[in-house]
Amino acid sequence: MELIFLGTGGAWGLPEHSCPCATCRHLRAKGEHRGRTSLWLEGPAKLLIDPGPDLRAQLMRENLPRPDAVLITHEHGDHFLGLDELLCYRRAVPAQDWRPIPVYASAAAWEQIEPRFGYLLGSLLEKRLALPGQALAGFPFGRDLSCQPVKTDHGPMPKGSVGYRFAVNQPGGSLTLGYTSDMVSLSEPDAFAGLDCLVCQCHFFNEPQVNRANHLSLQRALEFLGRWRPGAVFFVHLSCQDYLPGDETVNAMLKKYAPADPLRAPDGAPYAIPRDQDSWQAAVERVFTDRGLDLPAKVAWDGLRVGW
Ligand SMILES: [Zn+2]
Ligand SMILES: [Zn+2]
Repeated sequence: MELIFLGTGGAWGLPEHSCPCATCRHLRAKGEHRGRTSLWLEGPAKLLIDPGPDLRAQLMRENLPRPDAVLITHEHGDHFLGLDELLCYRRAVPAQDWRPIPVYASAAAWEQIEPRFGYLLGSLLEKRLALPGQALAGFPFGRDLSCQPVKTDHGPMPKGSVGYRFAVNQPGGSLTLGYTSDMVSLSEPDAFAGLDCLVCQCHFFNEPQVNRANHLSLQRALEFLGRWRPGAVFFVHLSCQDYLPGDETVNAMLKKYAPADPLRAPDGAPYAIPRDQDSWQAAVERVFTDRGLDLPAKVAWDGLRVGW
């Protein structure tokens, strides 16, 4: 099984265009970039999770073929607005050879997606339902690849948000994998427990006083990870929205979220807010070590490929 991280940034990517904050200025100066979060899984089948607005550039960068299925986690634009880009696959083969690509999303998510992309259904895409708690039905899912949607809470809008839990049978043994997508909590708190690999949303470093974005912070994710104990965790969907009084990432923008009680090192001082790939990775490793959380953790980057 290979995971290809197509994008690892938040809803507007990183740096956000026009954003004057210190994080975005630093990333611009460094030439570091994250597209909208999206993941490609390649094993018994080729799966594309969350075709976001950066999909065309991501598919071209990785030179990827027609996926066997597309999985959408929820009806926010950064997770489905790239559906139209899939038309290129149909345009590249004779009409009689084309089979529509199955696309899975929850019923509530389809209520928002269908009015926007209904013209693609039937010809380019086949609408399929992702029902929380029920294994996805139809090819390419079966004995060697199964997937169960997990209901997640990502705030009042979107209503249709789900994560996905996969089980894969492959020549070297079996593998379980989870994809939280955007969430702040779950109705079934241990739905992602005991996986070999977890791709976990990490929108903030510190848990904000008011989590209006309804996203996981690293701080909040630590509580889940301590219970779920995945074999490895990869963080995605990073933003520039942390606000820590006194930290150099602070600026006057109001779209920042002050922490309730920031993550602190053993000496009591808050950790500096990480701004780029290297400082995020170093911060995650330090936080895990300081808390005795012994599991491999990687902050993913666009183009990262991992084999299992
Ligand atoms: Zn998102
Ligand atoms: Zn979202």
